[in-house]
Amino acid sequence: MPLGGRFALAELPYAIDALAPAMSAETLTFHHGKHLKTYVDNLNAAIASTPMKGLALEDVVMQASGALLNNAGQVFNHNLFFAQLRSPQDSNAPTGRIARLIDEQFGGFDNFRALFEKAATTLFGSGWAWLSISDSDILTITQEPNASNPILRGLRPLLTADVWEHAYYVDYRNARADYLRAFWTIIDWDVVNERLG
Ligand code: MN
Repeated sequence: MPLGGRFALAELPYAIDALAPAMSAETLTFHHGKHLKTYVDNLNAAIASTPMKGLALEDVVMQASGALLNNAGQVFNHNLFFAQLRSPQDSNAPTGRIARLIDEQFGGFDNFRALFEKAATTLFGSGWAWLSISDSDILTITQEPNASNPILRGLRPLLTADVWEHAYYVDYRNARADYLRAFWTIIDWDVVNERLG
């Protein structure tokens, strides 16, 4: 991804209207084309004069602080967020290994979904809810404020809900819980399984 030490805006792996009605083309136009683009531009400006300009994005997140961490974290988080989505499915329960891990550790998808939605709806202000896994295969749900990411806790991120208002305000206004209900219909569980490694 770094090209001459600079980071590019990751292209969406689907059409701009592919996630509607759960996530509209207007939301994606602003969320990906404006918000994420700004984070990428700010990251490139902030990193240009630092010794980190040749590092991979994940390593920048691990080593940076201040404005550089905020912008690198937001680019890293959004790349994971947009890559895990696909067109809405009527029945979209987890599949494969992630389904088994969720059943074993959360007692089923419904219970996991309730816990994840609680973490996402009660996160105060801007941030991200994450499902991550530890080196010993323990699943963890965390609330990460602003641009934070579970890699800063030594965890491997698997699935995330962006709960910054810009992620849902166009489609759902202030109703974060409604956004989160629709969120489950557009999760690409194949991508989540790939992240298990
Ligand atoms: Mn966002």
